[in-house]
Amino acid sequence: MSIPLQSRLPRTYRIKHVKQETEMVRTFTFDGSLGAKPGQFAMVWLPGADEVPMSVACDDGATTRITFFAAGGMTNELAKLRVGDLAGLRGPFGTHYEWERGQHIVLVAGGYGAAPMYFVAKETAMHDCTLDVIVGARSNDHLLYVEELESLPHVSLHLATDDGSAGHKGFGTDILEKLLSSCHRPAAARPIDATSAPRISTRSDNGKCSPIDQIFGCGPEMMLKRISEMCAKYEVTAQLSMERYMKCGYGLCGNCVMDPLGIRICKEGPVVSNEVLLQLTEFGKYYRDDLGKKHSFDAIRKQR
Ligand SMILES: Cc1cc2nc3c(=O)[nH]c(=O)nc-3n(C[C@H](O)[C@H](O)[C@H](O)COP(=O)(O)OP(=O)(O)OC[C@H]3O[C@@H](n4cnc5c(N)ncnc54)[C@H](O)[C@@H]3O)c2cc1C
Repeated sequence: MSIPLQSRLPRTYRIKHVKQETEMVRTFTFDGSLGAKPGQFAMVWLPGADEVPMSVACDDGATTRITFFAAGGMTNELAKLRVGDLAGLRGPFGTHYEWERGQHIVLVAGGYGAAPMYFVAKETAMHDCTLDVIVGARSNDHLLYVEELESLPHVSLHLATDDGSAGHKGFGTDILEKLLSSCHRPAAARPIDATSAPRISTRSDNGKCSPIDQIFGCGPEMMLKRISEMCAKYEVTAQLSMERYMKCGYGLCGNCVMDPLGIRICKEGPVVSNEVLLQLTEFGKYYRDDLGKKHSFDAIRKQR
């Protein structure tokens, strides 16, 4: 799929609305649409600072939203912008989540992953999909998009916090495991000749199983790795949003390739099917920085 020239060049957009989500997280609504689909990202440019990838948190055809952590040099500068200020946007870039009308989908979000997951939920709800949405964060104060998700039709919201200040005490993936195991046996536990494997399902209020068609995930890589393993175990289709260091955003520079397939996360991702992810040996193990140097996730965990 070729990316039109106007998407590859930055255009300035005026900030129409700023929402302070948490102490560190803001949402900007820009006046103008990129024509983005749920899961796609934009390169956000602040002249004199940097240009970084951000997931599109919503694009309603008239406005575009991003939700970001003030995490470092660029994003701290970005956080200083106010209503009426301008920023550059390029895109939309990359793959997007795909679904069929009426499907039962489980969305799993960690950190700012809740923003693109809200965009998915909003669009899938319009296609009569039924959603179980799992949102995880460190504590109640860090949960994002809870009110917005609660306001959507056909959404059952499940919260998880590390400290138990809201919802389940623990990881969002614990809830996913419960949903999966409530009505389904892992592939390995099934008789070898079982050709008619049941679809994954969860119990609805009336006690009946409601099949899960797919699982979508967006959040920290170790969370995605756990989802990937679970979906392989229960043989459920999954689409997960990956992050790698991106420069051009449209497949030219090769900075975001993943071993050993060499897929470019900005072009063949960020939304990647679990079938492909299971072939990526670097998934959950290491990533490359702006110079292409490898960093292992284990080393990062030990530093913390
Ligand atoms: C597809 C994609 C979608 C993203 N969506 C969001 C989002 O919706 N909200 C959000 O807060 N963050 C998002 N990020 C992460 C965001 O790009 C980084 O947090 C941001 O670049 C930090 O820049 P900084 O200069 O403020 O911080 P730094 O201190 O420079 O970096 C902090 C972290 O961000 C990473 N980072 C820096 N520049 C890039 C880059 N060009 N590409 C990838 N990673 C980078 C660094 O490796 C480091 O781990 C996304 C990243 C990707 C790849």
